[in-house]
Amino acid sequence: MPSKQYRKLGCLDVNPTGGCAFEVRAETEEEVMRLVADHAKHAHKMDNPAPEMVKKIKGAMKSVSVTV
Ligand SMILES: [Zn+2]
Repeated sequence: MPSKQYRKLGCLDVNPTGGCAFEVRAETEEEVMRLVADHAKHAHKMDNPAPEMVKKIKGAMKSVSVTV
């Protein structure tokens, strides 16, 4: 069965004590960052993630293979 590599990130990966179960999965890191930024803006009132936050997010990102 063919599978695809996806990038995955959950709010809990970045902030384990935050209690937010939001999770995002996309084909590219850019897309994940875009979705996460959107979520952070609406759910966490974070308008522009600070460079340290972006670094943290990228570090917490995981690769998963998804069967297509
Ligand atoms: Zn969240």
